[in-house]
Amino acid sequence: MDLPATQYTPASFSPEQVAMRDHFRKYMMAEIDPHTAALEAGENPYPLMKKMVGDLGLAGDADKLEKTGGVKSDTDAADRPNDPDTAALMRFARTQVQIELARVNPGFAMSWGASVGLFGSNVRSKGTPDQIKKYVPDVMRGEKTGSWCLTEPGAGSDAFGSMKTSARPDGDDYVLNGSKTFITNAPYADVFLVYARNTEDGSIQAFIVERGFKGVDTSKPFDKMGMKSSPTGQVFLDDVRVPAENLLGGGMKDRDHVRKSLASERIGIAVLSYAIAERCYDIAVDYAKTREQGGQAIGHYQLIQNRLARMYVDLSNARRIVYSSEEMDILDACAGKLFVAEAGTRVAMESIHILAGNGYMSEYVVERLARDAKLLELGGGTTEIQIITIGKAIMAG
Ligand SMILES: Cc1cc2nc3c(=O)[nH]c(=O)nc-3n(C[C@H](O)[C@H](O)[C@H](O)COP(=O)(O)OP(=O)(O)OC[C@H]3O[C@@H](n4cnc5c(N)ncnc54)[C@H](O)[C@@H]3O)c2cc1C
Repeated sequence: MDLPATQYTPASFSPEQVAMRDHFRKYMMAEIDPHTAALEAGENPYPLMKKMVGDLGLAGDADKLEKTGGVKSDTDAADRPNDPDTAALMRFARTQVQIELARVNPGFAMSWGASVGLFGSNVRSKGTPDQIKKYVPDVMRGEKTGSWCLTEPGAGSDAFGSMKTSARPDGDDYVLNGSKTFITNAPYADVFLVYARNTEDGSIQAFIVERGFKGVDTSKPFDKMGMKSSPTGQVFLDDVRVPAENLLGGGMKDRDHVRKSLASERIGIAVLSYAIAERCYDIAVDYAKTREQGGQAIGHYQLIQNRLARMYVDLSNARRIVYSSEEMDILDACAGKLFVAEAGTRVAMESIHILAGNGYMSEYVVERLARDAKLLELGGGTTEIQIITIGKAIMAG
């Protein structure tokens, strides 16, 4: 299939990187994009996600994890590429597949990210070997769907301080009560990573909860402004008995494990925002070069070039954040998330403006992407929360 007009190829991309990008882009346009209308209308996205994981080989080392539970063995070192160029290309591939998916459908990409990233990677990095073996491989293969449950009706930005969901130790079990809201994948998820407050010492702990546990229920998907391909809902916990073996990592009581999860959620969100900005930029530049008014392409008007140039500034700076190979601490994750999320909305809105009447029409895609972009300024901590975190850290330093 022909690729849609590509107006933005970073000069730093190697021929291998361009080929890899085009490979993923062709797949997403051919296999995911045709489903977008149905997904936006509420079709269950998970069978398609499983197909994508299989087609593109995205399950990673799920088979190995199933055997080892993530315990390092002598063969691990042999599997790891020791050539830095190969390692860098693999890292690029992981970012690029998310970008190409989110260019086509940010909501679908968000649901996949919540399942394999917020649930899967969290359990993988903090779980016990038995928890990893039991829960992670199926989620990586798309056979099961995970969700990450922090937010509550009364605990959003102040998720820890105001958390009401409780975990009462009872013999070898914990008994969970409470409810979570705005949870990505909740209506269909098979497994939930639920944060709850221990009734004995007030600490926040994370529990792996299966849909089949007695007392677990979920709502229907909410109707919302954007990200319509991503089902969002509530999780209800009514005297849910969870065995102690499902306490993440055997029980971590400090908040550091949650903070680390928040950092990776923020970086994941920045990738989605960047993808939206890149697609909107491509569409706007293509339009500016081809749409004629007053006898010339509108892109020749300096007022339009001003908008295009500012879109480029956002895109170029956002790109350096999302492709960065640096290990990010929470502060850089907040700074990056804030900038890229706002850039995503700005570029999408500018793109609508350049397409004008057509930009307002669904056919031209940018109105959907602009609606999707706004969520990324709210989820994973609103703009205000990023600013507050950065400000506090500056003064504490
Ligand atoms: C589509 C969608 C998917 C989501 N997916 C998930 C998920 O998978 N898992 C999950 O746990 N959560 C999820 N969330 C929840 C999301 O993280 C929260 O919506 C977000 O953290 C904000 O919380 P809130 O909506 O309760 O807003 P509130 O915290 O009530 O904030 C309302 C306003 O007050 C401002 N505000 C709050 N506190 C302060 C302060 N101290 N100083 C200044 N201003 C402040 C905020 O910035 C905001 O503008 C999702 C949300 C949506 C919409």
